[in-house]
Amino acid sequence: MAGVALTGVSKSYNQAGMPAINDLTLEIRDGQFVTLLGPSGCGKTTTLRLIAGYMAPDAGTIHVGERLISSKDTVVLPEHRGMGMVFQNYAVWPHKTVFENVVFGLKLRKLPTSKARERVGQALELVGLSGYEERLPNELSGGQQQRVALARSIVVEPDILLLDEPLSNLDAKLREHMRGELKQLQRRLGITFIYVTHDQAEALALSDQIAVIHAGRLQQFGTPRDVYNRPANRTVADFMGNVNLLEGTVLRVDGSRAEIEIAGALRTCVGPQEGVSAGSRIDIAIRPESFTLKPSGTGLADGTVADHTFLGNISEYQIKIFDQLLRVQTHPKVTFAVGETVGIDLDPETISIFAR
Ligand code: ATP
Repeated sequence: MAGVALTGVSKSYNQAGMPAINDLTLEIRDGQFVTLLGPSGCGKTTTLRLIAGYMAPDAGTIHVGERLISSKDTVVLPEHRGMGMVFQNYAVWPHKTVFENVVFGLKLRKLPTSKARERVGQALELVGLSGYEERLPNELSGGQQQRVALARSIVVEPDILLLDEPLSNLDAKLREHMRGELKQLQRRLGITFIYVTHDQAEALALSDQIAVIHAGRLQQFGTPRDVYNRPANRTVADFMGNVNLLEGTVLRVDGSRAEIEIAGALRTCVGPQEGVSAGSRIDIAIRPESFTLKPSGTGLADGTVADHTFLGNISEYQIKIFDQLLRVQTHPKVTFAVGETVGIDLDPETISIFAR
């Protein structure tokens, strides 16, 4: 078992262009489920390929435990890194049976047949495919094929499993189901999983830690709760789900608390804040679920219901307050009519503010 440490890693594909990865430092602890999350083109796959050893960094180092595996001049070959890799497109061999697909890595390692059979049996049991040994991939569902790919990666007992958007080819329901299975599999194996996705819900559901990457740079590395509730900057707040990004002003600073005015309309006090002083302009991120709607005159301010959408498990409102439209999510039982005046409240603990 092993953790992975990236220190100051940079990689450009061409001299003139922007670096795909820029000065990335990340410490992934042994046995953790860590997700590299960010929009398309932000450098997630490049990071994974650097960790896998498919290419060398231009600068910086990658260690597994104490062992240097990558630097500008040193690249330990992928097969000598103790890592397995699972890809988006499964990459199972269509003409080989499930057993033949999974046993392949053990044959390369020249394991005795009886031992190999035992290990394939264990790997298939772990992914819930016992009894499917003789099937061909075209006799399996997409989810089952992806489980074959998983079994093939874990059968060689890697210390670290790298997964590049492994669920993105599955339909929504199956993806959710496989999410749960992946998390359980990681717990059973107890090995480090490094997972790449652009899907923030997937990252929140699966990870012990999330590394949010944007334009080749690490924006934040923290637990799902941290990156969702305490985003390090506007970029993270915006990327991690629905958010109202508003402008505001600091009215007063009293010890570690600050009184702020949001969008020229709502005044509230927020907890410990650094780097702001009275009069400073700030950016404010508020999740739609942080607001509460109440009868007019009983909240921090009044607004008007501009739109209302019932979504089954929640209700979503657009509330007009001065010239701002706020996105607000409430329990579906809360009902206000379009055009009605409502009171707006919000939990100050859930507000994130960023100095300009
Ligand atoms: P996606 O979610 O779309 O797969 P990503 O976050 O994994 O994106 P990367 O594939 O790491 O992003 O790409 C990062 C940047 O490097 C992008 O600007 C991309 O165009 C560029 N890039 C990636 N591979 C190559 C390559 N082989 N040659 C040149 N540029 C590349």
